[in-house]
Amino acid sequence: MTSKVMLLFFYIETIILQATEANEEVQVTELPKAIAGPIWGYYQGGIPPPFWSCLANNEMCAGTMQSPVNIETRYVVRNNKISKFCFSGLRKTAGIKMELKNTGLAVKVQFPDVQPIIKGGGLPGPHKLLELHFHWGDTIQRGSEHLINGKHSALEAHFVFLPTRDDPKHFAAVIGVMIYAGNYNPNYEHIVSKLKDVKHIGDKTDLDNFPIMDLFPESTRCWYRYCGSLTTPPCREKVIWTVLKHSISMSEDQISEFLKLMGEPRVFTEGNNNIVDTFRPVQPLLQRKVTLSCPRRGKYYYEQNRRNANEYGCINHGYGTQECHKTYYNHSSQSNICLWVDWYRRQLINKKETITK
Ligand SMILES: [Zn+2]
Repeated sequence: MTSKVMLLFFYIETIILQATEANEEVQVTELPKAIAGPIWGYYQGGIPPPFWSCLANNEMCAGTMQSPVNIETRYVVRNNKISKFCFSGLRKTAGIKMELKNTGLAVKVQFPDVQPIIKGGGLPGPHKLLELHFHWGDTIQRGSEHLINGKHSALEAHFVFLPTRDDPKHFAAVIGVMIYAGNYNPNYEHIVSKLKDVKHIGDKTDLDNFPIMDLFPESTRCWYRYCGSLTTPPCREKVIWTVLKHSISMSEDQISEFLKLMGEPRVFTEGNNNIVDTFRPVQPLLQRKVTLSCPRRGKYYYEQNRRNANEYGCINHGYGTQECHKTYYNHSSQSNICLWVDWYRRQLINKKETITK
């Protein structure tokens, strides 16, 4: 994916240079004057992911601890000195109000009144579930944000948790569940069957109550852990990422219901402005490492490691290889030049520095 992003960047640059040579009237505007207008987007309309950092207050999108990432399983570091998750708050959700909403960029389930609590898993303190949302593609071949050994799953569910008390060392914790195309998944019908009620941007409906834990794989014993960021602008960092090792499936019919949702017309310009391809390309790991956390069974290890919980937050992120740095410097969002074109209209919208020949 990184090489595709680089190719895209060079392609865009070529278009701009050609356009500049061929047409003197191409309008070049200074960045500060243009940033109020454009909206961030994915691959159809709006400012595409490699240039999110060019938008006002989105500088963090060019940061060094960004998400998502490609998880190469042969490079992960095993860690069994970590406490297991306590998900009882996600099992006992009776009476908790759940709202399904089409935001125009995604679909999410939010908890306006009571937020279920989780503990353990090496997270510093208890965390409350703010929302869960999904990322998907336009086919079942791709759609997840994280890659496992360079491969997408069809969808990825993100469960976004906030610490119950302010912690300057981290901002949020997100649990990702990889969803592959396969068998029909009755547990997800709580959500999938209601998608038709939130077809349009801004639509909202209440969900019938169900245990949130049903949305997780049967086994949650092992997970990939690394320190990253939000995957949408402003790409805020200090997010503790957990991608569950075990995945789940959904039938193609179930997945197709997501692709019928209609979104922000400036971002999704094709079809009936259907929300598709809502995944950010993977970001370089740099000095970070990904651990595969599989807590040992038994209370002894839990108690022994509970005290060191912070160690598995966003502090001890280890060091990567030289190879990672090379990728990083080639990455387009790290260029000093902030420029992009709207390549559907082939019009230069913005650049930071004057193009000199
Ligand atoms: Zn997400």
